[in-house]
Amino acid sequence: FSISMNQFELEDELGKGNYGTVRKVLHKPTKVAMAMKEIRLELEDQKLNAILMELDILHRAVAPEIVEFYGAFFVEGCVYYCMEYMDAGSLDKLQGAGIQEPVLARISGAMVRGLKFLKDKLQIMHRDVKPTNVLVNRQGIIKLCDFGVSGQLEKSLAKTNIGCQSYMAPERIQGESVNNLGTYSVSSDVWSLGLSIIEAAMGKYPYPPETYANVFAQLTAIVQGDPPTLPDGFSDEACDFVARCLMKEPTRRATYSELLEHPFLIADSKRTDDEVDMRGWVEMAIEWREKERIKAAVTAELEL
Ligand code: ATP
Ligand code: MG
Repeated sequence: FSISMNQFELEDELGKGNYGTVRKVLHKPTKVAMAMKEIRLELEDQKLNAILMELDILHRAVAPEIVEFYGAFFVEGCVYYCMEYMDAGSLDKLQGAGIQEPVLARISGAMVRGLKFLKDKLQIMHRDVKPTNVLVNRQGIIKLCDFGVSGQLEKSLAKTNIGCQSYMAPERIQGESVNNLGTYSVSSDVWSLGLSIIEAAMGKYPYPPETYANVFAQLTAIVQGDPPTLPDGFSDEACDFVARCLMKEPTRRATYSELLEHPFLIADSKRTDDEVDMRGWVEMAIEWREKERIKAAVTAELEL
């Protein structure tokens, strides 16, 4: 069956990205809570139809580490994309409360398996690995979303900003300035994976914008500087794991199979669910996020 706007009851806004808004919605016919992403494209119907056709392969992207896709449609130049609602939100907003190594390893393992699935089963790269695209639910399950399945969609999304937080690999940043596409291969995703893991461990983006005069200086640090490392308190295995992801030279980075065989993830696979309290971590992180939200609201109020 096909989905359309009148089947949905719109609920809270879950977040805003560069290209649109994600809302929680209720799909009335099935009573399933979903997340609906609106992407403003302003294209003719023919182009939008081509995008919908490409998005169709998402129906084959079924894996425990991939956010489920329910369907997409368009209304007045906007594409609406419906996916599984992840009730703890994205990793970027959960990571500041602190994280123990076993939890970090669980998250890393899920990300590697998700990326390997995309590569092996769908022959696609993710292209946008970063903490906002790592979603979490209250059961402590970690899933990836927003991978590049549609070339048409990718082309239509104006590459307006690199943003103040770039997860792009050095070779991609360099390539970008040359041909506006960047040189891209799976190993570029591996860099972004490593950077996201470090961010989860530090609780903040590893190239803090405030330490650079401008975006150019920040990107230069990524391209020319030493790669970031895990903060104190993590094991040698964990440090080596991220170092294998963050090799400056793309061909030296680990493959997904190598990462799965790495002692950091082998140790994780030996821990039972009882030993790694993912639910407890999510609960704690949500509580912290709420407190931060309130603090920020009070500060904003005082500044008025
Ligand atoms: P960018 O536009 O650079 O990709 P982004 O990933 O933050 O950034 P969106 O993909 O539009 O932008 O998502 C906006 C926010 O909505 C995310 O940061 C996330 O917190 C939330 N979100 C997205 N998808 C879901 C989902 N399926 N369930 C719950 N929350 C979601
Ligand atoms: Mg996203």
